Amino acid sequence: MFNIFKTFEKNELAEAEKTLVKINSLEPIIKNLQDFEIREYINRLTKQYQTEQNIHSILPESFALTREMSRRILGLRHFDSQILGGYVLNEGKIAEMKTGEGKTLVATLPVVLNALTMRGSHVVTVNDYLAKRDEQWMGQIYRALGLSVGLIQEGMDSNQRRRNYAADITYVTNSELAFDYLRDNMANSIDEIVQRPYNYCIVDEVDSILIDEARTPLIISEAQDIPIEKYVIADEITKYLKPEIHFKVDEKLKTITLTNLGIKQAEKLLETKDLYSVNDPWIPYIINSLKAQSLFLKETNYIVKDNEILIIDEFTGRIMPDRRWGEGLHQAIEAKEKVTIKQGSETLGSITYQNFFRLYPKLSGMTGTAKTAEAELQKIYNLPVVVIPTEKPVQRRDLTDLVYRDEYTKWKKIALHCEKLYKRGQPILIGTVSIEKSEIISQLLKDLQIPHQLLNAKPENIQREAEIIAQAGCYKAVTVSTNMAGRGTDIILGGNPEFRAEQQLKSLCVNLVKKQAIKNYNFSNLKTQLNPSRFKKLVYTLQFLKDIEIEQVLRNKAEKPTNNIQKSLRTIFQEFYKYNKYLSEKEKSLVKDLGGLYVIGTERHESKRIDDQLRGRSGRQGDPGMSRFFLSLDDNLLRVFSGETIKTLMNNLNLIDEALDAPALTQSLDNAQKKVENYFYDTRKQLFEYDEVLNIQRLAIFRERRAILEYKSVRPEIISYGEMLMLAFDLAIRTKTKKNLRREKQEIDYLLGLSLDIPMDKKLETPEETQEFLKQQFWIRYDLKEAEFESYSRGLMRLIEKNILLLEIDKNWKRHLQEIEILKDSIRWRGYGQFNPLSEYKKEGYNLFVETIQNIKYNSVYSLMKSRFS
Ligand code: ADP
Ligand code: MG
Repeated sequence: MFNIFKTFEKNELAEAEKTLVKINSLEPIIKNLQDFEIREYINRLTKQYQTEQNIHSILPESFALTREMSRRILGLRHFDSQILGGYVLNEGKIAEMKTGEGKTLVATLPVVLNALTMRGSHVVTVNDYLAKRDEQWMGQIYRALGLSVGLIQEGMDSNQRRRNYAADITYVTNSELAFDYLRDNMANSIDEIVQRPYNYCIVDEVDSILIDEARTPLIISEAQDIPIEKYVIADEITKYLKPEIHFKVDEKLKTITLTNLGIKQAEKLLETKDLYSVNDPWIPYIINSLKAQSLFLKETNYIVKDNEILIIDEFTGRIMPDRRWGEGLHQAIEAKEKVTIKQGSETLGSITYQNFFRLYPKLSGMTGTAKTAEAELQKIYNLPVVVIPTEKPVQRRDLTDLVYRDEYTKWKKIALHCEKLYKRGQPILIGTVSIEKSEIISQLLKDLQIPHQLLNAKPENIQREAEIIAQAGCYKAVTVSTNMAGRGTDIILGGNPEFRAEQQLKSLCVNLVKKQAIKNYNFSNLKTQLNPSRFKKLVYTLQFLKDIEIEQVLRNKAEKPTNNIQKSLRTIFQEFYKYNKYLSEKEKSLVKDLGGLYVIGTERHESKRIDDQLRGRSGRQGDPGMSRFFLSLDDNLLRVFSGETIKTLMNNLNLIDEALDAPALTQSLDNAQKKVENYFYDTRKQLFEYDEVLNIQRLAIFRERRAILEYKSVRPEIISYGEMLMLAFDLAIRTKTKKNLRREKQEIDYLLGLSLDIPMDKKLETPEETQEFLKQQFWIRYDLKEAEFESYSRGLMRLIEKNILLLEIDKNWKRHLQEIEILKDSIRWRGYGQFNPLSEYKKEGYNLFVETIQNIKYNSVYSLMKSRFS
């Protein structure tokens, strides 16, 4: 069985391997080219693509040129395995490459190739820090090849964004990218738009974005009034409701149900007759408040910062600054934590990552862990996963889980184990599932006097965390980190000399900029091979240093310095680097002998993929390493999903402090994990299927809206909407009784200044005649309106037409989003008995959309005819 699988994978890479041979054979020739000749070569390929439109025919040369330039500029020559990875990425697939295999560099190959189409390549990372790092690092290769590079960062204005999106290659985070998409589709004129049409995209850490974050939709919203006091009152009275007696909690489904007793109690406390009253409903506030108190925990599900509730992503441990829980839950938590309750908001536009990334004609991704989610990636995104073999064999040993009776024992054992390792000097990385848990272990380590670093993935720490994690492989280093803090940063055994040199340079410069007397600087502290007096001289040239120059030097380590200050900075940096390199090489061999980085997992995550990510931080590029999970029966996964059987098993074994090393237990853990994974997969699949309805509608509306922005005039559109309206009148006149025609009568009067009786009275026999008559009346009215506006100012009519149409689209789309939400809810409550809720939702969602479109059209006509200029 296993073998068949293997050969299948081999075949998958067969084409790539053939191309690899070709790429390698180009190397001797390309090696002899001057830099400018390489740039000319790139230009030729661009032209060749313009005529042939065949990306495959320029692939080998483009890859070979990129590799050569990387070798010259960064001193990194793409390994063969990296070429294979690049090939897979260009195919629009997911390349699974282990942590430390150099995915950042792999991306350069398909990125350059696809930029040669002149339609742009996007590289998507999970945070601003990584986007900037990768742009600075890899940007040097692109610029040397004559391509332009852009970077999008939070807080940039739209001009900066537009410029950066226009570059051949753009580095950007998933959230900036998707929010820009939504904003672009709310623009009121073409020149507000910042993105150009999508072409090619590589998503780094693709599983994290397309799976873990896929469930939460991105929303652009507008404030809306809500009854704040209700949240406060609900928060107070729910304190008098008791679990099991007044309400029941389902931890699996994350739901709360009130018992009859609970309903009565709440009604008594609120002095209300009916919690469910239509005019003054209390039930959503009560339920949310109970959820806030029993299912959403501080430091686990959210943190409180600056009077705000910030959500913690349960998978990555990252803070999600702009997200809010919907449907009043966020406000309920605000009430519970006594922070300012923010007004609710109305959605103006929303999209899930699931649907957003499918907008790219060519999408690809890379990560260390995708294979276990292959089915989902294939089914939802149509992205096959190809495993790229590591450059060197993995040497890490994953030891069997140790399971303890309770949490207390578990943490104690972890701390003691750390003490043992620390005394030997072996570096340790401890992963936890929440900030709270990392503080527990941190305290225990403190008690044992083990110095350590604590990382918690709060957004303001990302940069510093990267610096800390980079040194997590040092001798005696102990690092405690929530799940994915520092994701994307390489852990080099013996430490990262480049980071250290940068830090030393920066701290030296800070002192200089502060003019903190160079005199006082202790030069003998700086261990460099330069003699102190020469070094002093160098430093004195830096008297007029500006921050920007440090940035520039660190950003472009390969470019020639442009002035003396930069030249000195460069020399000093190189000195620091050389010395640190020497130190870390020594340290590396020491740490290797100790067994490499020891990764400790403290709880199984809901997804095996995330556990694998943690393990994968050790054993990079063939380094030695170990990993072990310490678990307890109190752990969430065991507690919620595997039931009492295990607990009785443990009790019967009568163990006090010893770990249970029973294969049955591991088996049942694996099963529990599988169960949870499947459960979440189903949720995401369901979200996806439901969202599909709205997605098609969103695409249609956005497409139409964009076209309207681009049109010089929308007169023909509005005229045709008016004509449609006339046909509707005609139909009404012919099918309804006179008594039921009241509304139409008013409207015809209103729009055309005609009484309904006229078309009737004129004894127009055939429907065609009536229709023609109505249309003509409409045209006349329209021309009159136009003449009225144009007499004020030329071109005014065109402007008003366009604005009205855009306004109506936005207004009705906003309402549509609300109605669809309500529809979704109501379908959910209708029970699954006789019909399939999804197809019911599809049907009714479609009807709603037809209605929305019709409203846009008719309302535009009304608004226009109604508008006055005065
Ligand atoms: P990943 O994203 O796959 O975890 P990174 O892109 O962070 O890995 O790279 C890990 C380390 O490998 C970096 O320090 C990088 O300099 C190094 N590296 C990558 N490619 C090469 C190469 N071809 N030759 C030498 N070192 C490389
Ligand atoms: Mg990476």
